[in-house]
Amino acid sequence: MQKIVKFRIKGNSKYFFERYGTSNPIIHIEGIDKEVLKGKWQDFPERSSSKRFAKRLKDENLPKEGKVFYGKINKFPELLHESEIEEIKQSLEWCSICKKEFITHDSYTNLCDKCAENFSKQLSKRQ
Ligand SMILES: [Zn+2]
Repeated sequence: MQKIVKFRIKGNSKYFFERYGTSNPIIHIEGIDKEVLKGKWQDFPERSSSKRFAKRLKDENLPKEGKVFYGKINKFPELLHESEIEEIKQSLEWCSICKKEFITHDSYTNLCDKCAENFSKQLSKRQ
């Protein structure tokens, strides 16, 4: 079992819902703005991600203090305030039937979704 750490948007942001179809999209975090952009995000006002973030800071009343992360959602760059994101803990398991890797949120299952579904179908046929 291998732990993988991912991040997603928390809460019920209208912006993310309208743009990505869910308020809680998964984010691929690349680092804080200073590391990734080689400067603070404010130093790059012409970037589309900076423009959208500046608008969100105002519209959504995000804190002006704190870390700003640069990440990608569905390959689109976004700047994200640390208060907007949360860690999701998942682990990588190997299915005991098909031996393929799958991602799980709980550590009690050792079957992938497909095999678990087939397995429960077989059980219901027997009854
Ligand atoms: Zn399987």
